[in-house]
Amino acid sequence: MPQRLALLAALIVERPLCRPCIVDKAGISQAELDAALASIQPVLAPEVHHEGRCRACGNIGVVISLPRPSH
Ligand SMILES: [Zn+2]
Repeated sequence: MPQRLALLAALIVERPLCRPCIVDKAGISQAELDAALASIQPVLAPEVHHEGRCRACGNIGVVISLPRPSH
């Protein structure tokens, strides 16, 4: 799971993606995505935008991104 968390984080740093694209690219299930987001929440504070544009498929809707690490 930690490796998948790292992959997930790398996917969405400064690159908002919709949930279907995230699960597809990270190779995880919706449930695993929810669990991953919950576990990185205290550390990385993922940003959820409800009318964002997915950088992968271009759909407008809920997208999730991470702020760039400060170090
Ligand atoms: Zn998408």
